[in-house]
Amino acid sequence: MASEVEAVENAFRSAQARLGLAAGLITRDEWLTLNPANPSSGSYGMMMRLLRIILGIRSFSRRLTKSYYRLARAIETGYTLDEDGEATTLNELRDEFEADLNRVMNLDFDWEDMTAEEKYFADEANNLAGKDKDQWKPAELEESLEDWQETKGSDGKVKGEKHKWTDDRIQSIDDALKGFKKVIGDAGITDLENKIKTLKRRYGEDPDRLLAEITNEFLINRDKLAGVIDKSGIDSGRELIDTTVAKDKRARAVARGTRGSPCHFCAMLASRGFVYASERMALAGWHPNCHCYAIVRWSDSSELPERNEYYARMWDDVTKDHTGQEKAKAWRRWITAQRNKTNS
Ligand SMILES: [Zn+2]
Repeated sequence: MASEVEAVENAFRSAQARLGLAAGLITRDEWLTLNPANPSSGSYGMMMRLLRIILGIRSFSRRLTKSYYRLARAIETGYTLDEDGEATTLNELRDEFEADLNRVMNLDFDWEDMTAEEKYFADEANNLAGKDKDQWKPAELEESLEDWQETKGSDGKVKGEKHKWTDDRIQSIDDALKGFKKVIGDAGITDLENKIKTLKRRYGEDPDRLLAEITNEFLINRDKLAGVIDKSGIDSGRELIDTTVAKDKRARAVARGTRGSPCHFCAMLASRGFVYASERMALAGWHPNCHCYAIVRWSDSSELPERNEYYARMWDDVTKDHTGQEKAKAWRRWITAQRNKTNS
């Protein structure tokens, strides 16, 4: 059976994934309010609403990251991080983390201390149609919460170590505009408008074909943008883990934590197992639609999760007859075949 720290981490990752998936679904809904024939009309308003969604998710993502980190570190070391260096207990930290998981699971609850942006995101997520909501994976989070219940250890005193959490680099709509305007345009409207110009040159004589091609590209950009908004939101928790590990004298090792069926890039990083916390940049890099998160360990006796062990074994197996760049290519082919199997 997985250790409690691993179960906590899985629940944490499921919750972050759920936030990211919700961001993607809201973005797809927003995008469909645009007119494919004239997409820039109304696109500014859409971008401003999506920026608010990003702010709301970043706030949720960070909140979750703090309570996860405080708990996981306490389980492994008996010490947690605290703004005032206050002592606590394992069960209090468990309650704190569970409350944050429940927040993500039941976004329809009007929490008292919710920020305006969190509330905006929660409302938008709850306005999604029922069919969309299924894609939002409530079951995955519920299951990982149940798995965690089975691994829960006994209560115990936890000492607090003074720690100042870094503030999010995105604090306001203005910051979000500066930080994300370009990536939003590159994946969404700006990119689509460039494509439409090319299509008009190519199919200007054939209006039916032109409309079909534009509609097709319109949907491709919808999905591209969904991945970008998803990432811009849940990157906040990843950034917080990174800056916290950098200052945390007890952090020993990190690894790439993936969910089922990751892309070849993340699976390759997962196959590398643990690296020293100081060398965590070797496992950096997140892409749109990725719901992977860093695994952090504070104890040398901590075990590598089964999925990482599996990819480590398979990396050796799949790439053993190849050298240099060919190794990565062989790996990519193998991962693609695995993913096709699970999707069929
Ligand atoms: Zn990934």
